[in-house]
Amino acid sequence: MGKRFASAFLALSCAFGLSVATAGAQAPATSAADAGAPWRVLEGDLGHDRFEHYTELPFDLPPGVTRVTIRFTYDRAQHSVIDLGLRDPQRFRGWGGGAHDHMTLSTEDATQGYLPGPLPAGHWNLILGAPNIRPGAKAHYQAQIFIERKPTITEFADAPLSSHPGWYRGDLHMHSGDSDGHCRSQAGKSVSCPVYRVVETAAARGLDFIALTDHNSTAHFNALRELQPAFDKLLLVPGREITTFWGHSNVFGPTDVLDFRMGSPHWDQARRWIDAAHAEGGIVSINHPGAPSGEICMGCGWRVDDLPQGVADAVEVVNGGTMRETGAADSPLQGFAYWNRLLKSGAHVTGIGGSDSHEADRPLTEAGALGMPTTVVYMPELSVHGLLAGLRSGRVFIDVESTHDRILNLTAKAGPQQAEMGGTLRLRAGDSADLAVEVKGVSSGTLQLIVDGESDGARRVAFAGDASLSLSPWRADGRAHWLRADVRDAQGRLLLVGNPIYIAAAR
Ligand SMILES: [Zn+2]
Ligand SMILES: [Zn+2]
Repeated sequence: MGKRFASAFLALSCAFGLSVATAGAQAPATSAADAGAPWRVLEGDLGHDRFEHYTELPFDLPPGVTRVTIRFTYDRAQHSVIDLGLRDPQRFRGWGGGAHDHMTLSTEDATQGYLPGPLPAGHWNLILGAPNIRPGAKAHYQAQIFIERKPTITEFADAPLSSHPGWYRGDLHMHSGDSDGHCRSQAGKSVSCPVYRVVETAAARGLDFIALTDHNSTAHFNALRELQPAFDKLLLVPGREITTFWGHSNVFGPTDVLDFRMGSPHWDQARRWIDAAHAEGGIVSINHPGAPSGEICMGCGWRVDDLPQGVADAVEVVNGGTMRETGAADSPLQGFAYWNRLLKSGAHVTGIGGSDSHEADRPLTEAGALGMPTTVVYMPELSVHGLLAGLRSGRVFIDVESTHDRILNLTAKAGPQQAEMGGTLRLRAGDSADLAVEVKGVSSGTLQLIVDGESDGARRVAFAGDASLSLSPWRADGRAHWLRADVRDAQGRLLLVGNPIYIAAAR
């Protein structure tokens, strides 16, 4: 382990402290901040008497609001023009003018032209400016105001980037200059990397989604809100790397501050941020659990040993930084041993990858570059909610070399039952299940079935080209098992890592 490894996993000691989100709420059901019925509708007419005047529409915001979203429409006949701005009880919150008729503000992010920050209770004003209302004209307007009273999963896009179910490729772990990510300035200096450079790199590499996961910070979310409309083929997923003295964990989905400051490496401390993330509908993934801890890599290895079953939704099985340092996707310092330990306990946990890129400029020819490894997720749609659903379902594989076309799809069938990766077959002792694997994009290699974390020598198949492979049937023994598949190249290098199909004992 060299110095680079230490810097790649630098543990941050952040001094800011905000309150932790409260646990106990259910996962959100909606994907848009303005779905459902508005909380208030402000409606009226602007006549020529308001031409070149500002008209304030007051509303009293209740305490405890976490997001305000306003959708404004008006009658544009006769060239009427209405500009928009917003004031809270304490300060001016922005002026969208005539450019934005739809704005959303939360503690962390806001529509361009508006300021994110606390949403104080009290007297707010929507400000209407009228640069043009003709004599005799009347512009009817309607402002629909939507509020959220608890943090929910945020979509930075107004609609899914694609509504098609399918495999989508992305990177779930990377850093910008909002923590310790660097890239080159115009003059070639190493500088804190602006968020847009990370996003541009991901887009240039043809990824479908990225989770930017700066250490403990929520500062990058406002930039993601700004960038998403311009990157309408690259889903920007809210993420952060909860970085403690005793391990790192990615949280996908929530955008509000989660208090990461654990006082000891125990569940009663970890649950404060884990329960809050889950209550909001977020996913918790244990990062690089097999990495060393100590001066060589401060706080990197996962050392919270008393996590209850089911708390970890995912494990980062292949970390790009560890690939770079060890030269292997399946080094003992990767996450396979910890993943197997959780699976052995009976938990269903999705194995994922993440580049842990700290340098957006690093070329894709080098391990640990942004996008390497890629995690490929079967999603119902390309949206944040679609990604979370896909990760939760477990129909996921890791593409170690970050290609655009490799597929690994294991399915199992037993009578009327069929399971994809992440699914479960319920079998009685003596029942038989057919195992089929589709592999694409690999010129030649070996498919290996892994049973309960061990290679099954009887189910190893060499193949060439795109292949639909049948493995010898699984004979159930009345006990629980997990079966998954890996693909290696002719030299034995790991290329594709599949997720388990679970075998449960039928009663
Ligand atoms: Zn880390
Ligand atoms: Zn990281």
